Amino acid sequence: MQFVDEAVIEVQAGKGGNGCLSFHRARNLPRGGPDGGNGGNGGSVRLVGDVALNTLADFRFTPRCRAENGCHGGSSDKTGADGRDLDVRVPVGTTVVDEETRSIIGDVAVAGETLIVARGGARGFGNARFKSSTNRAPRRTTAGRLGERRRLRLELKVIADVGLLGLPNAGKSTLISRVSASKPKIADYPFTTLIPNLGVVRVDQDASFVMADVPGLVPGASKGAGLGMRFLKHLSRARLLLHLVHAAPIGSCDATALPPSSIGRDAQRPVESDPVNNARAIEAELFAYSAAFRERTIWMVVTKMDLPGGEATLKQLRQAFPHRPCRGVSAITGQGIDQLNAAVMAHVAEYRERLRTDAAFAERERDFDRRVRSDVVEREFAAAAERRNAKDATDDEVEVAYRRD
Ligand code: GDP
Ligand code: MG
Repeated sequence: MQFVDEAVIEVQAGKGGNGCLSFHRARNLPRGGPDGGNGGNGGSVRLVGDVALNTLADFRFTPRCRAENGCHGGSSDKTGADGRDLDVRVPVGTTVVDEETRSIIGDVAVAGETLIVARGGARGFGNARFKSSTNRAPRRTTAGRLGERRRLRLELKVIADVGLLGLPNAGKSTLISRVSASKPKIADYPFTTLIPNLGVVRVDQDASFVMADVPGLVPGASKGAGLGMRFLKHLSRARLLLHLVHAAPIGSCDATALPPSSIGRDAQRPVESDPVNNARAIEAELFAYSAAFRERTIWMVVTKMDLPGGEATLKQLRQAFPHRPCRGVSAITGQGIDQLNAAVMAHVAEYRERLRTDAAFAERERDFDRRVRSDVVEREFAAAAERRNAKDATDDEVEVAYRRD
């Protein structure tokens, strides 16, 4: 499962300036030599990786990028100025494909990395350049070349800044649809509604973060090949985890707050829904996938605060997790949603800033990413091996039974 964001843009490099045809003229020098200067080179278009960006959404508004033309050469050997290069900021991780040839031009993999996507046209030469011992008054000049022009497809594997944990029915999907669709500015941006498990949350003009749901993270999931595994990879770069806890009257019989696997088995037995135990169980499951997740920041969020029992649940969580921020939200009334978004945005922005400015921190983060990925891959292997063993075991039994006959 991969979340891919796309944009098609047109890049146009600057034209080179023409060379100049001119001869030096002065009162005492009526037939001076050639003095036509060269033109300037056209500017190139470059893509620059920027960790502060996380979607390609903004290219919908600026699909055309032009670099400056070079200036023409002048008389008296004046060289034209070079056209300025145009730096286009793209999110780190953007892959650039030539839309016509379908070939990959390159990747912008790290912050600050630049990729030239359209080369500026070369400058033209003025006639002074063609002066020689045999031709002392050349009338020849060359014109600047056109800059490259290309249609590019930008592709970005979207990286979640924030991951949502929580039992089935905790309100994860509802929260994502509420926070990402409620911003009219991006309502028609297809990505927002493309995948229910992922949302781009735009807090203001140029501040946004990506929120991802991790479905299927239920007690026991790390032992089997749960759906969660594929999603967990997306969390390897999520700095912040929001643990959503369903507000429910304490001590009530609440089978919906339990994993589907246990519903059938324990259907007859009333189950006490203890939000603190549930929360601990979910986190134990996450850490069983990869112990590295213990290093992540987790905030508690009580959902469905419009239901009775919300305040009590919040109080319980605050007591059980005194060192974590605990908030209450309701996707229905909107209570606490804006505050949550603002707090998350501030946290994410601070994290990105640190990634950009603190090299040691950035290296630690890359290491974290690697550990999670390798743990998840290891678990996938283990789960696949277990499935194979189970299959072999049943095959053996079948064989034994067959021989007995
Ligand atoms: P998920 O399994 O964690 O993705 O949970 P969902 O988002 O699918 O929500 C489960 C159920 O809770 C749905 O029936 C939602 O309508 C309901 N729900 C979600 N948010 C709220 C809320 O803020 N208030 C109330 N009353 N119900 C909610
Ligand atoms: Mg869901």
